[in-house]
Amino acid sequence: MYQSFIGLEVHIHLLTKTKVFCGCRSAFGDAPNTNVCPVCMGYPGVLPSLNIEAMRMGCMVARALNCRIPEKTWFERKQYFYPDMPKNYQISQFGSPLGQEGYVDLDGKRVRIKECHLEEDAGKMIHTGTVSLLDYNRAGVALLEMVTEPDMETGEEAERFIQQLRRTVRYLGVCDGNMEEGSLRADANVSINLPGKGLGRKVEIKNLNSSRFVRLGLNYEIQRQGNLLDQGKRVIQETRLWNENRDQTEPMRTKENAQDYRYFPEPDLPVFAPDAAFLASVEAALVELPAPRMQRLEQDYGLSREQAELIGDEKALADYFEEAVAAAEAQGLAKQDGAGRIANWLLTDIKHILGRAGLTPSGIGSFRLTPRRLAALVALVARGQVSMKNGKQALERVVAEDREPEALIREAGWEQLSDPARIAEAVQAVYAAEGETFALVRGALAAGNRKRQRTLTAYLVGRVLERTGGRANPQIVGSQIEALIGDGV
Ligand SMILES: [Zn+2]
Repeated sequence: MYQSFIGLEVHIHLLTKTKVFCGCRSAFGDAPNTNVCPVCMGYPGVLPSLNIEAMRMGCMVARALNCRIPEKTWFERKQYFYPDMPKNYQISQFGSPLGQEGYVDLDGKRVRIKECHLEEDAGKMIHTGTVSLLDYNRAGVALLEMVTEPDMETGEEAERFIQQLRRTVRYLGVCDGNMEEGSLRADANVSINLPGKGLGRKVEIKNLNSSRFVRLGLNYEIQRQGNLLDQGKRVIQETRLWNENRDQTEPMRTKENAQDYRYFPEPDLPVFAPDAAFLASVEAALVELPAPRMQRLEQDYGLSREQAELIGDEKALADYFEEAVAAAEAQGLAKQDGAGRIANWLLTDIKHILGRAGLTPSGIGSFRLTPRRLAALVALVARGQVSMKNGKQALERVVAEDREPEALIREAGWEQLSDPARIAEAVQAVYAAEGETFALVRGALAAGNRKRQRTLTAYLVGRVLERTGGRANPQIVGSQIEALIGDGV
């Protein structure tokens, strides 16, 4: 039918300690208008100065998106009059942004990145009753804007792009990625046309404060524009807002052209020419990115794709996992065996414990269950020294009591009983008490009723485990009971 072209513009709040052109604190939730100074309030005669940390973080994102860092990058003034920007212009980048012509590979599809540019955020307007209040704490906070080419086609693709970008900036530690609080703000543009006819008339969608809304908003808009074209109508080039209560986009205003902003070079900031030392510091700060890491978790550790995605979603969790597997290896477990067991524990019981405690996987680094403690528990279970049931019980107590699993298990008397002579005592006691059941198993065996035979045997194993407080090794119990059954035939 129609071909669709989706591009994204994502604003990324950089986690610098101070604002991008002055020394004010860059923080959320402080009392209104406490983090302000003459520079970010736009007083006459003040001079901005570039926060090199913001430039470095911006270049880190640019490099992670395979962008080229130009030999010279500079700032422009973007003119507009609005109360949230007391200077009446925003310092941004236009002619030579810090990152240019990159790309992201999204499940085998390449999305080109047009640019990444550094700019200052505006203040926050709060409309209440008949007045509007202004909080300038956010004015001047470092923002990186990433712009893609219109290379995506569906809302689903755009959603995956945002998720991957969010993971990337969190891995790099340059943004907390919180879309609801506005740390990551996405605008999308979309046009549709008959196949082979190139781009259509572009509509921009704002107010997409979750990756889900990006998907819903774009799919709604593709449908709406398709209906218009089907009826022989024209799509109006405009900006629309996503209304999350009505699940639809609504017109906002017609789009300004770039010249409406009358960009001109910022005379108060020198051209920035990154030197070798600066570029080296950018490269040194780069980490292994989420997509290659997930691939490595899958290949090196034998995880399923789903496990690798769940663990690789959060850098702290992936770090924790790799540390725990190394510790389990040190305890004598084969790498992939340990990895499989640790992944299972992490994604089930430990996930529940974290959830109960109100912790997110990103906070797992400060969790009482250290990677070494988890490895010790997993190794004890793997070697048959503790039953799975008692191992999981020990897990809860290690977390609750902040203790070493080995000592806790010893004190609780949870070490698995593997001594055949001591197990035989318990088996004999059950044999004495359950003579009839043994007779029934023999009967089932003679009649060839294997199902009944198995059920009854499992019952007898259960009775022996009961007598040993759940500590007897079930395999040894099973073989001793089978031997007794065989003896009587
Ligand atoms: Zn300031």
